Amino acid sequence: MTAVLDLAAAAALLREHPRVLVACHESPDGDALGSLIGMGMSLRNAGWDVVLWAPGDAPLPADYLWLGLEGTTRTPPADAAERLLLALDCGSAERLGSDGPATVAAAAASINLDHHADNTKFAGLNLVDAVSPCTTILVLRLLRELDITITLDVAEALYVGIITDTGRFMYANASAESHRVAAELIDLGVDPAEIFRRLYEGKPAARVELTARILSSLELRLDGRLAVAYVTIADLDATKASESDSEGVIDALRSIAGVEVAALVREPRAGEGQFHKCSLRSAQPTVDVARIAHAGGGGGHTLAAGFALDGPAADVVSLIEREMTRA
Ligand code: 5GP
Ligand code: MN
Repeated sequence: MTAVLDLAAAAALLREHPRVLVACHESPDGDALGSLIGMGMSLRNAGWDVVLWAPGDAPLPADYLWLGLEGTTRTPPADAAERLLLALDCGSAERLGSDGPATVAAAAASINLDHHADNTKFAGLNLVDAVSPCTTILVLRLLRELDITITLDVAEALYVGIITDTGRFMYANASAESHRVAAELIDLGVDPAEIFRRLYEGKPAARVELTARILSSLELRLDGRLAVAYVTIADLDATKASESDSEGVIDALRSIAGVEVAALVREPRAGEGQFHKCSLRSAQPTVDVARIAHAGGGGGHTLAAGFALDGPAADVVSLIEREMTRA
């Protein structure tokens, strides 16, 4: 089942605004970047004046550079207030980074297209379908509403969102719809084996070395119900890997027998204060990690969520343990 979204209202608003700022959440993943590129390129091809904004200053993940991220800005453009802001895969204005809330407030108009159940409906027009396995499927629905032809580049970007947010069709959100839309994109020319190669093969050795270091920090807590590992700045410096190279390591933590919650805690870089970022994954359908993330001021989905805490790593772990032992 898909939610009824006011796609017609979004299409009408877009047609009223020839200048658009398309944005995704900070620390973007495959769904965020696939949505950004798929939507942005399509609007540009159809004649809109488009700026692509991927908030944050950490380098964009190398796995997705082939999508065509070169023209993406990391800070809102000077004329942001004259543009319609189209936020993709963002649960809140804060997920657009430190400039997010002010940029949303000042925009000529704003649309929030997303699939997070905890979405705060922060825009003028909110299209939130928490049942959708990823945002790129919602992007495709909006592009169809706009009668925009899907090019192969765009189809590939949208396919990436499906692949990454469904864990290659293996998570609980890998619905029949996700397979059906994937099939439609394959009919448009997407080559799954080629996308697999671009996303998951040919990785620098540094990534495997980083993975080894992270996994060696594994702690099993609460009688093995909680698996925690740490990414330290020393790990990144020693391996010359980047923070986004740690994406996927958390799946190894989740795969351990008896584990209910997997947590990956990232040490902040110098100048980032004490903000430890924490990714959470649930290994059991009955365990809701979004609840834990909310307790830490973050958010996300039932099975995949995250938060950032101003304090030492030990405080991050205590918060998770406290939430997991709460009756
Ligand atoms: P990841 O662990 O892959 O960074 O994020 C998993 C999920 O949790 C994604 O849906 C992401 O949007 C959400 N998430 C991660 N970190 C945060 C955070 O600090 N705040 C909020 N609201 N959501 C987060
Ligand atoms: Mn997503």
